[in-house]
Amino acid sequence: MGLIRRFGVIEKSDRPYECKRCKTAFSVQYQVCPECGGYSVEREEWD
Ligand SMILES: [Zn+2]
Repeated sequence: MGLIRRFGVIEKSDRPYECKRCKTAFSVQYQVCPECGGYSVEREEWD
């Protein structure tokens, strides 16, 4: 778990997917966001 800590986003470490529309984070990827119905649930890129 230590490799994630350097980003300071520990609360998101188990929820790499985020809806681009409502900004809700998920632990699994949805084709349709269960919160807002949006189609933009994408994995966050940590470059
Ligand atoms: Zn959403």
